[in-house]
Amino acid sequence: MIPIKILLVDDEQDLLLNMETALKGEGYEVITAENGREAIVLARSARPDLVIMDCMMPDMDGITACRHIKEDPVTANINVIFLTAKDMAGDMVEGLDSGAMDYITKPFHYDALFARLRSFQRLYNYQKQLSAMVEFSSAINQLDIQKLVAELLAHLTSIIHVELFSIFLYDEKLKQMALIASNHPYLADTRELVLEIDQTPLMRDVVEQKRVIHITEFSKSAYSVGHREKYRDDYAIGVPLIMGSRLIGVMNLNGNSHGFFNKPDFTFIMLAAEHIASAISNALQYRRIQEMAVTDSLTGVFNRRHFFEQLAAEWERFDRYNSILSVIMADIDFFKKINDTWGHPCGDVVLAQTAKILKSHLRKVDTVARYGGEEFVILLPETSAEEAALVAERMRADIASHAFMWDENRISATISLGVADATEERTTASEFLLRNADQKLYRAKETGRNRVVR
Ligand code: GH3
Ligand code: MG
Ligand code: MG
Repeated sequence: MIPIKILLVDDEQDLLLNMETALKGEGYEVITAENGREAIVLARSARPDLVIMDCMMPDMDGITACRHIKEDPVTANINVIFLTAKDMAGDMVEGLDSGAMDYITKPFHYDALFARLRSFQRLYNYQKQLSAMVEFSSAINQLDIQKLVAELLAHLTSIIHVELFSIFLYDEKLKQMALIASNHPYLADTRELVLEIDQTPLMRDVVEQKRVIHITEFSKSAYSVGHREKYRDDYAIGVPLIMGSRLIGVMNLNGNSHGFFNKPDFTFIMLAAEHIASAISNALQYRRIQEMAVTDSLTGVFNRRHFFEQLAAEWERFDRYNSILSVIMADIDFFKKINDTWGHPCGDVVLAQTAKILKSHLRKVDTVARYGGEEFVILLPETSAEEAALVAERMRADIASHAFMWDENRISATISLGVADATEERTTASEFLLRNADQKLYRAKETGRNRVVR
């Protein structure tokens, strides 16, 4: 509930004082003016949410003042309710046409006035929530999924008035739910949480039925088994996140001020869910496109173009900070023979598996890319050739002992590797580093293959 600020305008000072006291007693913030001119000035400077104004006032009457308020862009959104004598009620057509939302005839009962104000307050809250929703929707409209999640964490709970939320993405192929955002304290360090869909019955039902599931007595429901600690209040709600006709995830909500969700809450939850689904879907799509642009589709490692971008960036760092930089070139031995013996599709499997093994020996900062047909190149920042050669040797040994499976056949393969670092070539360009590694690879081939040369 956002408390509203009311500007009271009446030339009868007794009534003004009386109303001021009564409204303050109800918890409203109140300011007062004694004529139309004063009201216009105060409306501009104090920005009340509502003006309750007498129609008949000396100097400037209420209807004229209301017109001014409505014509000024600064004050146009302020709502006006007129106070009018009973026998003047006929003039209220003009009053409402001036932009007022309602009128109250004098003399009035305070109960009637309070009821009117409560109704205004509801409308006001609804408007505020709607404009907050519009802001929320544009805030979460982020192509970077991390930024999107940060905006969700910052705004979601206040926008739909819940205390706890978690958002999971659904992987239809793997039948898994992967957490992408949550403010549960106990989920704080489980960023990478992935659940089998059957481990999480509430989300499973949301996914299968593609509808909101609202459990009012969670502890007594079939869903509660083993899950009780997740919920603050004894109810839970799972909302499907749907984009087009595809379910992309589930949003779980729990804990709000009234301990349950009413109809307006649901309206906003559904609206928020729609915005969230569309924002997440866009961000995921964007990420997929970005990834495709830098990935080799057969092996899943980076493509050649991306490697050269990384090399340029690392070379600049190397140049500026006087660091070390190594490159490993790796090539599968007698790969043509594997193709010739087992067929091209089998060669593809060996290639992909080899890439996976190479990758498994690297740090996050290293870059492995497919350089050509069955040749890979690896960039290792802050690494000497000596250290890189150790990594290369582990890769060589791993592949040499690996059984590549094709149908029921165990196929073996080996690789040759050339290693070079950039300490000696400090003054020259990155191409020399690559050429150097390539020459070492050539020597590894020449001197028997299945070996590392540095
Ligand atoms: P070396 O030990 O001297 O490297 O011998 P090699 O047979 O591995 O080398 P060569 O360059 O003679 O042959 C490479 C083969 O790799 C030829 C090409 O058909 C095959 N190749 C290149 N790209 C792919 C691919 O994407 N899939 C498959 N299956 N084979 C590929
Ligand atoms: Mg080869
Ligand atoms: Mg080759």
